[in-house]
Amino acid sequence: REEYMMQSEKLTMAGQLAAGIAHEIRNPLTSINGFMKLIRSSKRSPETYYEIIESELKRIELIVNELLVLSKPQGKHVSKPINVLPMLEQVITLMNVQAALKNIEITLERADVPQWIVGETNQLKQVFINLLKNGMDAMDSSGTILVSVDSTEQEVWIRVQDEGSGMTPEQVQKLGQPFFTTKDTGTGLGFMITQNIIHNHGGSIQIESEPGQGTAFTVKLPKTMKPEHT
Ligand code: ADP
Repeated sequence: REEYMMQSEKLTMAGQLAAGIAHEIRNPLTSINGFMKLIRSSKRSPETYYEIIESELKRIELIVNELLVLSKPQGKHVSKPINVLPMLEQVITLMNVQAALKNIEITLERADVPQWIVGETNQLKQVFINLLKNGMDAMDSSGTILVSVDSTEQEVWIRVQDEGSGMTPEQVQKLGQPFFTTKDTGTGLGFMITQNIIHNHGGSIQIESEPGQGTAFTVKLPKTMKPEHT
């Protein structure tokens, strides 16, 4: 019975996703079609329309790329022990380049003990790239995003706390539904991908958000022993 429930929930999710994809891709396609017709019938130089067509194509490409990320964990994946702190340092180094342009500082509060988890490094990096990017998007002026690591007996907790716009309870509820976005250029797929990766790693994510104050995400992942050969 439970299995049956899960199956039907999956179908709803797939249906929801399919409807969203169809909608999201149809809009730029309709627009491209329209501008192609204009180019054919117009005496004006097509140059004026190229920019719009290009940006619509880029939008489709962005959506398709994000969906590909989502489909990857089903393929072959290589799980190995990951030392959490160096992984976070690498992601933060990468993201600090973009953050600096907005006068945002990303800081890492180092835990004393090395924390090990098992998983796919690139997938897990994607999680923190997504969370940091959302934090940066939510902050319109300078500020700090604090990344901190903690652990319980069973889990490693990684908290990403921003000083951004925060979310209303309604927004928090919609977060993770495919194509829910409040951004002009958002896809509304990022958090669904984040959740999916964490779930595939046997973890969970917790959200605390306060409009006007900021948001904190806590990623909880199963802890493992430090591998012997390192
Ligand atoms: P996207 O970033 O493309 O909009 P996401 O699924 O990553 O897609 O996020 C969905 C929405 O959730 C965002 O548009 C934003 O409204 C909200 N959101 C996500 N993270 C944060 C955050 N750290 N602070 C405020 N709002 C957020």
